[in-house]
Order: sequence, then structure tokens, then C-alpha cells
Amino acid sequence: MSSLDINPFESAKKKLIIAAKEINLDPNTVNFLSRVEKSLIVSIPIKMDNGSIEIFQGYRVHHSTIRGPAKGGIRYSPEVTLDEIKALAFLMTFKTSLLELPLGGSKGGVCVDIKRLSNAELERLTRRYTAEIINMIGPDIDIPAPDMGTDAQTMAWLMDTYSMQKGRTIPEVVTGKPIEIGGSVGRSGATGTGMFYVLKALCDKMNYNLGSMTAVIQGFGKVGSVIAKKLYDNGIKILGVMESDGGVFSPKGLNIDSLLDWKNQNNRLGDFQGNSTREITNEDLFSTPCDIIVPAAIENQINSSNAADIECKIILEGANSPTTSKADRFLEEKDIIAIPDILANSGGVCVSYFEYVQDINAYFWDLERINNEMRHILLKAFGEVYNLSKERDVSLRTAAYVIAVSRLAKALELRGLFP
Ligand code: GLU
Repeated sequence: MSSLDINPFESAKKKLIIAAKEINLDPNTVNFLSRVEKSLIVSIPIKMDNGSIEIFQGYRVHHSTIRGPAKGGIRYSPEVTLDEIKALAFLMTFKTSLLELPLGGSKGGVCVDIKRLSNAELERLTRRYTAEIINMIGPDIDIPAPDMGTDAQTMAWLMDTYSMQKGRTIPEVVTGKPIEIGGSVGRSGATGTGMFYVLKALCDKMNYNLGSMTAVIQGFGKVGSVIAKKLYDNGIKILGVMESDGGVFSPKGLNIDSLLDWKNQNNRLGDFQGNSTREITNEDLFSTPCDIIVPAAIENQINSSNAADIECKIILEGANSPTTSKADRFLEEKDIIAIPDILANSGGVCVSYFEYVQDINAYFWDLERINNEMRHILLKAFGEVYNLSKERDVSLRTAAYVIAVSRLAKALELRGLFP
């Protein structure tokens, strides 16, 4: 179980229950969506470089295929559990529904500390994991993508293993691949780019001037580093950035270009030296008074132990499920607006969908088209969420869930029950 003994799947379902109450949703629909359609637990035996054999545990979960083939990433982390993967698959169902993508929700993961593995071991792990879940994935079944601990190279190994088994090259089995083998331009930075579009849209509604705002960011990886750079380039002062092994703070604002260089040389953020910088802890980061807090790391980081210390206007959820339900209520009372994960970080799956469409059509778009179409989809979803939250006087999160669940309920009604 992840930090604070919060069962991630139970905690995810609470968001559905709040939205269901809001619209008096049929209890059968709630019951239906409170379960995952399929889950598979696999053992992954790997020959390590020293000749020994280690066995890792892996999972693939389909939460829902009501609206289309399942879609969701693969996570490699020592914290991975079945309940975590179920919760993340559940979130994907609501994310794809909110964006009206013709896809469902899934997730996979392997309980592994990738820092302990060589590149060759990681490749063997990925290929064996793919072989173990092969009947659960496919372009019209379930399309994996990167998540924490996996990247374009992992997706290339997955695509190759799947293609070798099927006897032909099938790029559309996975998204987030390298561009050279059917990946999409703009996919690697898509989550952070999308976060910025949504943040800007909210600030415009609130009449906040982005250029005079301050922010802190938890996470400086595939998501955190991209949003950090976007915020920095748009004149937002980044007071603090945190990674799992330490963080750095400057009341004058951090130079994100220098921090990116520092990180690219494999240095700890905590050791970064700049104008008035000092090392900080997670507690320091979340209690820094600022305008925007960006949790872009793991689940449950904003919880009942730190919610009282948070002083900001906006929480921009780059991570999946970074805020617990209890903390959410606390933040609402303090009039802090959380841009919910299923909206805030949905640029990733949005461009994954574009990659899938491009692969199927064997015709590739340029970056301008990718970003324009992503902006269009995200801003449409933002507008719907924002308007509904005003209409019903509910949080953006509840509004997002109401919209997503209404589409799922309609699809369920139209399809009916087999047999
Ligand atoms: N792992 C990402 C997410 O949580 C992307 C999933 C995808 O592109 O399928 O949204």
C-alpha cells in the first residue's frame, strides 16, 4: 500500500461516488464502474547479468472498455501494487471519457526498482512482461504507453516483442514510442504542454496575470521538468523544485535552464547552487506560500498531514491522484482551486491518441498540428468542466467526474448488458 495507508483504489472510487451523488446516478452504474473489468497478475522471471534468476511481479488491468479499447501506461516502481494499478486504470477511464477520446482505461506495472537493473536486464524484463500480458494488449484491445519508470525505449522493446510474436510490425500496439518507429512528435512533452494550456485557461478566467505569479513544483522528471520550463519561459517565478532525493529553493526564483543542465549532468537538485538557493524538504516545499503548487511526482502527496500548511491559489495536478479526498475537502474550504489530474495531465493520453491515429493511418502530422489539436481538445474539456463547476457550484474535480461519468453511463445504457 502506498504512503499513509490509503488504499489507492478505494480513494479513487470516492471521487466517483461524490460525482454520482451530484447527479443521482443509477447505483447499478456506480457499481459497474467501481470494479475493474479484468486484471492479470504475472510472474516475470529474469536472468540477471550475474547469472542468477530474479522473479518480479507484474500486472495489467483493464478498468473499462465501454467507450473503446483500453488505454493506459505501464509503471515500473518498487511501490507498484495491484490496488495502485487498479486505481490508475480507473483514472484513465475517466480521463479518456472527459476528453471524449474513443478509448477506455487501463494500466500496467511491474514492482521493480529500475535503478538496480542494467539496461540489458530492463530489456529482458520488458520483453518477458510483454510476453506474459500479450493476450491482454493489442491495437483494438488495450494500448500501453509510458508512465513512471518507463520511456520511449521501453515502448520500443514492447512494440518489437509484440510484433515478433504476431509476425509483422504493429506500431499501433503502443504509444509513446521513439519517432523513428512510429512515435509522434510532441508526445514526450505532451503532458507538461497540456498542463500549461489548462493552467493558462484557468488564469484567464480568474483574471490572474501569469507573469506575476510564483510556483513550486514537486517532481522534475518527464512531467515536472517540462511544466517547470513552460512556467519559467512564461515569466512565472519558480521558488522551489523537489525530487525524491532532495530539492532546492530560492526566494528570488530558480533559473530553470541552469537547473535542467544541472540535472542532465546527473546531479542532485539539492546540491544546486544559484542565486540565494538552499536545500529544502518536501514539507518545506508544500508549506511555501506561492500562487501555484504543481505536484508532478506520485500519489497522495497532498494529504491530511500537510493540507493545513498549504497556502496557494491553484494546485495543478501533474501526477495522477496527488491529492487525497480528505485533503481535497480541506483545500476547498480554503478556496484553493485544484485543476484535477484527469484534466490537468490529460495532454499525455491526448497525444497518445494522436499517435495511435497516425500509426493506423500511416500518415504523420507536424508539431504545430499536434499542439493545435491537443489545445483544442483540452480547452474544450476545460470549458465544459469550468462551466459545470459554476453551474452546480462544485469543485473542478467533481465537475470533471460528472462529465466523464455521464458519458460512461450513456455508453453503458446504449450498449446494454450482454447477454
Ligand atoms: N501514463 C500517462 C497517463 O497516466 C499516459 C497514458 C497514455 O498515454 O496512454 O496519463
